[in-house]
Amino acid sequence: MPELVPIDHDRLLETFLRLLRIDSYHGHEDRIVEVLEPMLHAAGLTTTVDAHGNLIATWEARDSDAEPLMLNAHMDTVWPTPGMEPVVTDEGVATDGSSVLGADDKAGVAAIVEGVQAVADAGLPHGPIELVFTVGEDVGHIGSRAFDPESIQSRRGLVFDGDGPVGSVVLEGPAAAGFTAVFRGKAAHAGIEPENGVSAIAMAARAIDRMKLGRITNYTVANIGTINGGQAMNIVPAEVTLVGQARSLRQGLLEKQIEHMREVMEEAANELGGTVDYEETIRIAAFGFNKQNQVVRLADRAIRAAGLEPSHVRTGGGSDAHEFNAKGIWSVILGMGCTGAHTLDEFAPHEALRQAAQVAAQAIVVA
Ligand SMILES: [Zn+2]
Repeated sequence: MPELVPIDHDRLLETFLRLLRIDSYHGHEDRIVEVLEPMLHAAGLTTTVDAHGNLIATWEARDSDAEPLMLNAHMDTVWPTPGMEPVVTDEGVATDGSSVLGADDKAGVAAIVEGVQAVADAGLPHGPIELVFTVGEDVGHIGSRAFDPESIQSRRGLVFDGDGPVGSVVLEGPAAAGFTAVFRGKAAHAGIEPENGVSAIAMAARAIDRMKLGRITNYTVANIGTINGGQAMNIVPAEVTLVGQARSLRQGLLEKQIEHMREVMEEAANELGGTVDYEETIRIAAFGFNKQNQVVRLADRAIRAAGLEPSHVRTGGGSDAHEFNAKGIWSVILGMGCTGAHTLDEFAPHEALRQAAQVAAQAIVVA
């Protein structure tokens, strides 16, 4: 087995805690950039911030002719975390209960930074490394979606943002489509002339009742997330807006599900004498790699070199990896070993953080 890269546990925890204490909800990631830039410069990297706020750090090769490799994590958190004071126990780092911890994805950021620092300290050879720290992942992959792939050389990447144990590699991510549907009927006084009204709420209710929702197959899920409409108790509602989505690991099944949802909405509107306007608001392409793909083999190699056993999994969520893959930067997602993401119980075990940093360091070395 290759030797472990010496990780500085104290420095890793210190970096992690420092990042956690920064409220970096989307729009405030520059506060993270401010902290990261001097650390990366000290390790010998150059940095730029692109027009969208993503931090890009470049590390020139040292005694290696390996192909360029991108390491990615996102700087935003799912909610604001003002004043959150992380609680350090023997097992790991928890939130004080006032907000999420933000280990999603500051564990990824800290692991990558420590991986770089550890390889730099040890003076190990490595190929060209490009770090991309994105903005707005948790509000719709804003930074990675806007990212210009020509701003880096790498055409392969590792995304440090998975919810499984360290060692898990996400090879498949679903296609997704989000939509807004506006049902339109006709307002009327509900007490005096209800027969002159056409209820948009009745249309929406009928459509939802006929819709296949929830987990539809192993591959496909769908949801109506919000419903808004109507004006008052005594007015037949003229307008209702539904917001929904579908996801599938198979592109064809996604199209089929979306078609089904549109169809029942149109049927319901027609039957009750109204109309529905459908607008697609989000579209994400699926990605999927086989085990022989070179980015999968690289992930496996780095995980084994870190003394762990790789496991190949799929995700139901969206991620920066979706956007990078759509742009031709072939990327898999690595598990960070944290639990309770997006909740007040979010927890980052010390052991997982150290393992993730070791995987980052090994990825740099074995790339
Ligand atoms: Zn995340």
